[in-house]
Amino acid sequence: MTESSTNSPQFDNSYVLLPALFYSKQTLAPVKAPALIRINHALADQLGISADWLESPSGLQVLAGNEVAPGSLPIATAYAGHQFGGWNPRLGDGRATLLGEVIGKDGQRYDIQLKGAGRTAYARGGDGRSPLGPVLREYVISEAMATLGVPTSRSLAAVTTGEYVMREGMLPGGILTRVCSSHIRIGTFQFFAGQNNHEAVKTLADHVIARHYPQAAEAQRPYAALLRAVIARQAELIAQWQQLGFIHGVMNTDNMLVSGETIDYGPCAFMDNYHPNTVYSSIDSGGRYAYGNQPGIGQWNLAWLARALLPLIDADEDLALQEAQQAIDDYVPQYQRAYDQIMAGKIGLSQADTESKALVEELLQLMAAANADYTLTFRRLAELAAPGEYEGDSVAELAELPASLSHWITEWEARLDSDPADARERQQRMLRLNPAYIPRNHLVEEVIRAAVDDHDLQPFHRLVERLAEPFRFDAADDRYATPPTPEQVVARTFCGT
Ligand code: AMP
Ligand code: MG
Repeated sequence: MTESSTNSPQFDNSYVLLPALFYSKQTLAPVKAPALIRINHALADQLGISADWLESPSGLQVLAGNEVAPGSLPIATAYAGHQFGGWNPRLGDGRATLLGEVIGKDGQRYDIQLKGAGRTAYARGGDGRSPLGPVLREYVISEAMATLGVPTSRSLAAVTTGEYVMREGMLPGGILTRVCSSHIRIGTFQFFAGQNNHEAVKTLADHVIARHYPQAAEAQRPYAALLRAVIARQAELIAQWQQLGFIHGVMNTDNMLVSGETIDYGPCAFMDNYHPNTVYSSIDSGGRYAYGNQPGIGQWNLAWLARALLPLIDADEDLALQEAQQAIDDYVPQYQRAYDQIMAGKIGLSQADTESKALVEELLQLMAAANADYTLTFRRLAELAAPGEYEGDSVAELAELPASLSHWITEWEARLDSDPADARERQQRMLRLNPAYIPRNHLVEEVIRAAVDDHDLQPFHRLVERLAEPFRFDAADDRYATPPTPEQVVARTFCGT
């Protein structure tokens, strides 16, 4: 064995131990001339994967899907799902290959998956490939989300394939190495429930309990406890999306992980100007997945998980239904509590109460009416929260607060005065909750254009590095925080699949 292959990850393959109908074994489809774009050193370190190996020739062959690492048993997993509300009984990983799992330094299990590594048994009409653009997009946004503190799939590596894929024209191909604590979706449960295969649903539920929610095993009704645990994580997750102005864009049930991590960065975007009706995805013509609809869609999706779990919850159908319905109903106050608490924090209040909720609501209405930039409005409020105290660079010149906010600001300052927290500490907290830098759509588009049109990856690297410190504003990097001019606005995003 060569030096580099002995350094390869220690793969484990727990999903392969599940029944055959859960997945399909994957033979690799080599690409012509792979080249490394970027390795995520910090993540490799957390996973206990050698960055030297990832950067070695044999690492590159594995990241490109040209070779199988020792101990890896590549598979594609089966799932179904509701896409834009319509049922599809058979989806599955069409262009994603699960190489196996590793145990990170934190003792947790993580899936290592290649996205764009070729056709699988579930590819249907697709080519199993991914253009470079969506690979870079996912790398930038998923890593920004992680830095912003949102549970998410991560990006361990990105490579080019040296081959072209046919989309709206010939585009350079790429492969992303995606990492998350599992790729089990609401749609994975639906796949088996849709076939009335209750035994498989139970096998999957037991796997998920052991892997993600071991405390549910101790509950009186373990599968109801599982449902409640997933609901709690999704409520928290979607509250995080809302507070950051993140629009997922394809909240289909096959794109919702039961682990509560964000996945499937396709047409997603962070909104610039605040408006609840904001939609970016070119295929979301009805606005089903608009910003303001995300919390409600989250509940709709969870209801399908509840339905799949129903036969396991209780042998008595009425009891099972009652239990599931209660859990689904409880999503609403759980989400609302999480959202209200974060939003109160964003405006510097330690407790969410009727007054804080009214203040947030009023602020958002004023922002919508004034086309105010979502991110910079909150950031500017953080700067203003302790008069005379703020010493860092200011975003004031990048986005002036609308004049229509002046009355609100007076009200808000009066409320802050009655809050027990120390003004300086409050400001520090607000500066850690309200980023200056988000992966703005026009910036993401710009680095993709440079990579695809000019073969220049430097803008991509610079953006990734800038977004690694979103809460420290540096006026020298103001272009990364500046909202787009009307000419720069990128109002539409594409799945790019
Ligand atoms: P997504 O929109 O990325 O959630 O994908 C929806 C479904 O289409 C999933 O089953 C994917 O695996 C499949 N899919 C997307 N793009 C491709 C592709 N290029 N080749 C094969 N399957 C694909
Ligand atoms: Mg998907």
